[in-house]
Amino acid sequence: MRRFTSDHCVTEMSRDHPPVYSMKEGEKVIVEMLDCHGGYVGRDGRARPGQVPANPATGPIEVKGSQPGEAIAVTFHQLRPADWGFIGGGGEPFTVVEITGETAVYPWGLRLPTDPMVGVVGLAPAGAPVPTDTPGDHGGNLDVTDVGLGATLFLPVAVPGGLLALGDTHALQGDGECGGTGIECAAEAVISVRRVAQPLCELPCLIRDDELMVLAAAETLDEAAWKAVGEMAKVLARLTGLSDSEARRLLSTAGDLRISQIVNPKKACRAVIPRVAIADCWPF
Ligand code: CA
Ligand code: CA
Repeated sequence: MRRFTSDHCVTEMSRDHPPVYSMKEGEKVIVEMLDCHGGYVGRDGRARPGQVPANPATGPIEVKGSQPGEAIAVTFHQLRPADWGFIGGGGEPFTVVEITGETAVYPWGLRLPTDPMVGVVGLAPAGAPVPTDTPGDHGGNLDVTDVGLGATLFLPVAVPGGLLALGDTHALQGDGECGGTGIECAAEAVISVRRVAQPLCELPCLIRDDELMVLAAAETLDEAAWKAVGEMAKVLARLTGLSDSEARRLLSTAGDLRISQIVNPKKACRAVIPRVAIADCWPF
């Protein structure tokens, strides 16, 4: 399996960055990802002096043949965090967390099972570059706890090749990421990609564990929520043949709206429908 090392990173998603890696549909590759500060935080919980990078993301990775109007589906077959990570910031020393196997060990002795996830996964947007600290319709810093093992994330393609970049991995994060970080750590993933000629959705969407999710980001949480609901209603109407108002009634009763994060330059949430609610027309 080829390995895409984390010495090639971007701190903005941009159509102007030429790809450093290239992969084909169906191929599995190993992707190394740095922590959100690019290794500048030491195991003593202190950052090295100087400009600390924000969310360096490995890439850009060209998906061969991919064209605007399609989606790229990224599947996470493995996701393995490093053996330690850190929480916090804001001028105080970071809290260092040891990661032993599948357990996170907090400094006061608390042990919790890890649930590794990737905070930043995105493609280059059509317009101006977007920093990797910001989420949007291209993906980016969405900080969705479900972007982990077994998940397939669908991203709308805006430029030829898509120009995928990934980073900002967390050993554990709660919905909302209300303190500003997860357990930030380096990690490596095994991923594959697939081209989708007719995307289900104009926004990023995701399947994991028999749930379909539409991921939205906006200036405020209210705007992000209604954006996710509106797009999910369109998806449900298209899949089921229901009207828009019927689709909203289905979502209102059988679905969920979950807060992804409230701490990034744009806030993010997701509309979620379980497979059982659309079993006859489950699209995957
Ligand atoms: Ca993040
Ligand atoms: Ca992070």
